[in-house]
Amino acid sequence: MRYVSTRADSAAASESFEDVLLAGLARDGGLFVPESWPAPFSESDLVEMASLSYADLAVRLTQPFIGDAVEPAALERIARETYAGFEHPATAPLTQLGARFWLMELYHGPTLAFKDYALQFLGRLFDHVVARRGERLTIVGATSGDTGSAAIEACRGRKSLSIVILHPEGRVSEVQRRQMTTVDEANVHNVAVDGTFDDCQAMVKAMFNDLPFRDALNLAAVNSINWARILAQTVYYAYAALALGSPARPVTFAVPTGNFGNVYSGYVAARLGLPIRHLLVATNANDILARFFASAGYYKNDVIASISPSMDIQIASNFERLLFELYGRDGAAVRALIGRLDQGGGFDVAADKLDAVRGLFSGRRVDDDRALECMARVWRECGMLIDPHSAAGVAAAEDAMQAQDAGAAAMICLATAHPAKFPDAVERATGIHAALPDRLGDLLERPEHVTHLPNDLATVKEFVRACGSGQREGKVA
Ligand SMILES: *Cc1c(COP(=O)(O)O)cnc(C)c1O
Repeated sequence: MRYVSTRADSAAASESFEDVLLAGLARDGGLFVPESWPAPFSESDLVEMASLSYADLAVRLTQPFIGDAVEPAALERIARETYAGFEHPATAPLTQLGARFWLMELYHGPTLAFKDYALQFLGRLFDHVVARRGERLTIVGATSGDTGSAAIEACRGRKSLSIVILHPEGRVSEVQRRQMTTVDEANVHNVAVDGTFDDCQAMVKAMFNDLPFRDALNLAAVNSINWARILAQTVYYAYAALALGSPARPVTFAVPTGNFGNVYSGYVAARLGLPIRHLLVATNANDILARFFASAGYYKNDVIASISPSMDIQIASNFERLLFELYGRDGAAVRALIGRLDQGGGFDVAADKLDAVRGLFSGRRVDDDRALECMARVWRECGMLIDPHSAAGVAAAEDAMQAQDAGAAAMICLATAHPAKFPDAVERATGIHAALPDRLGDLLERPEHVTHLPNDLATVKEFVRACGSGQREGKVA
């Protein structure tokens, strides 16, 4: 399988899975997508896949996209190791909340959020590919809370990787900070920057833009646009559909959405032949995508702080991958649209272009009050605590079923975070304090490892250089 950028001319050279994995973003600023989609799985393929374990299904689904970049035996080992580390024997269990209505719990990984399902796989793929090349990678990122811990958990202890995560000192919650700083591993480096998240992100950007620095340290990112993350996320869509009776039984997914990465994986699963009738894009008050599917207009607004912060986004970076399909895989057309987004704040997609996916996608906005009400009701009626992100998906699904525009397929809502990650909102809705799982129960007592640095690029770069060259190995302070 070869890959192209969403902004490339048709004559541009394609790239290998290995390069796509390590580069993340294409050089022209676009996102990588397969050069062409593989033939969908047949009905008998799907019937046979229904009996696979989560890890074996992951191998089956990802192998055609990875090709010979990872040998079959290594891919099997990576998938087994990845999902053996998840707490629940079903890996991604389904809980029935109502007639034709299920919740898929995607929070049984080490950091209790769905990002683990892809990042745990990605960290191992990175390690494998880089070690085979005899190289080292320095992963650098900034976090306002959640992604930092998932990335650290994905990279901890991997011999060919160092990871440096910047967070704004005093501006992440105690649980979020401790999920990062209590990791006691020589290749993990936490930096508390005396500044804001934007300061942290600006420094990361500046490091990537300093090409000699970037090359010398083999800098890499594990951000949400990496194709391998999208790929790994298709597995739970297939797993849930097959568990509920696909291919005979069609399904619909409701997906709490921010950067459009998760729900785009659902689109990929549909392209692979899973009988996915509909993908319901649930947003909070930051509703650019809900507005898009209603009006075909994609226009940015200011970010509104909500009770579901991981969905507080202005521009959904992975949406560019869908645009590429809507415009018949025309990179020049995508480039023009993104130019209008950057300069004029938005664009309209021609109605006939949207028609191609109008049946498959729709969007719904769920405000905080509606999400809180949904959390309270699910607790009351089903005895289950759900986090505010998951509640956006459940409420959107309920509203769609009420309006009778959800179709007759089984409805599966993705629960993207454990309720204990957002205890304040859960308590506000239900009066219950959501407890952390046992294995994280002593989080508040574990020692922290963090380096405090000023908001100064030169100082931070020097620190990253020392981490990347291994000088700080074993010197976690
Ligand atoms: C990242 C995240 C989302 C949004 O996922 P996207 O792939 O960016 O759409 C939703 N919920 C939680 C809990 C998240 O961490």
